[in-house]
Amino acid sequence: MLLSTLFPLLLTLLTLALAAAQQDLYKILQLDKSCNDRDLKRAYRTLSKKYHPDKSSGDEQKFLEVAEAYETLSDPTTRKIYDQYGHDGLANHKRTGGQQQHNPFDLFSQFFGGGSRQQPGVRRGHEMEVKLSVPLRDFYTGREVPFSLEKQQICDTCSGSGSADGHVETCTRCNGRGIIIQKHMLAPGMFQQVQSHCDVCGGQGKTIKRPCKTCNGSKVVRKVVDLVADIEPGMPRGHRVIFENEADEHPDYVAGNLNVVIDELSPKINTDETDEARKSRNDGAFFRRKGPDLYWKEVLSLREAWMGSWTRNLTHLDSHIVALSRGRGEVVQPGQVEAVRGEGMSIWHDGHVHEHDEHETGTHGTLYVEYVVVLPDQMERGMEKEFWAVWEKWRGKNGVDLGRDSGRPVPQGVRAELKDEL
Ligand SMILES: [Zn+2]
Ligand SMILES: [Zn+2]
Repeated sequence: MLLSTLFPLLLTLLTLALAAAQQDLYKILQLDKSCNDRDLKRAYRTLSKKYHPDKSSGDEQKFLEVAEAYETLSDPTTRKIYDQYGHDGLANHKRTGGQQQHNPFDLFSQFFGGGSRQQPGVRRGHEMEVKLSVPLRDFYTGREVPFSLEKQQICDTCSGSGSADGHVETCTRCNGRGIIIQKHMLAPGMFQQVQSHCDVCGGQGKTIKRPCKTCNGSKVVRKVVDLVADIEPGMPRGHRVIFENEADEHPDYVAGNLNVVIDELSPKINTDETDEARKSRNDGAFFRRKGPDLYWKEVLSLREAWMGSWTRNLTHLDSHIVALSRGRGEVVQPGQVEAVRGEGMSIWHDGHVHEHDEHETGTHGTLYVEYVVVLPDQMERGMEKEFWAVWEKWRGKNGVDLGRDSGRPVPQGVRAELKDEL
């Protein structure tokens, strides 16, 4: 992938950026010193998306600065150092090995998923998969969906060493090799070597005298992390958003990927028309999606279908109105389907940071409106009488044509004489 070739260059740029501009880290994130963790996250999310080099509004330099600022300020230790001693303090801290530099693109994919760079030859942990169900409306409008997940994380207390005092000793039984070799004499002068796991250190090669109290020496703990999945407009149902290296962590391996499957939530249909129910009507309960197209059923009365002169204001998934109408005398047949171009889903292109212009033509699928015509079960007596009279009058004038009534084709000559049988 392009990114992997770009990466060394970016690191150089990052170093240059650090040397040249010593900008205030809070200013870079457009925040002030009183900001909290949530403010930081929100600022990072907005700005990193804006400046990502793959975007048209992208600015690589700024993207790197934002990543750097976020990384420093989101860590309580480095934030404190920065607040007290500024950039020089940070530089000192880094020199003494306090802060490891992360790849700014990894940080980005931690927030938004995507990317797929692999480090070859590195032991990787297993992958994880979670399912996130969102209503059709979110697939239409796009949304950042926060979610949390319990996973295995490196213990903060002991930084993954498993030791309470930081001391990890080499196992005296196996000398740190994790295995012991025993020699058995089978016959005078004939030896058999048997290799086995060291039972003192469990094959680790290291022993801990005082295990960390938080993780009991296991180096890892299970904790909840907060993540945000970016649902883009028109994203297909069942799409996988990949969060690189966000699966279970362990100091012995690189965490695998976390795959978040974005599923469509089945709509809740409210039978009682309360305010709440009316509000939730546009969650997609009455739309059906098929790829980039949407389907909708609209009910017409017999009068509307037959005589025309009606309008419907259909509330779309993002609450905008699609107006449907027929003038007087415009007939709609039962089951007739009207195609409204450009009112389907956004047409989605793979690639997690590419923007599409919402209002450009050809960026949306079609909305298919199927008309369902409902005949009245009962008619008011007076109305029934009048209708009957009208039918009888016109039936008498035109006669009855059984061939026509049964749907058989009518010969050309005859057609001209016939009026429509109502
Ligand atoms: Zn051992
Ligand atoms: Zn621990």
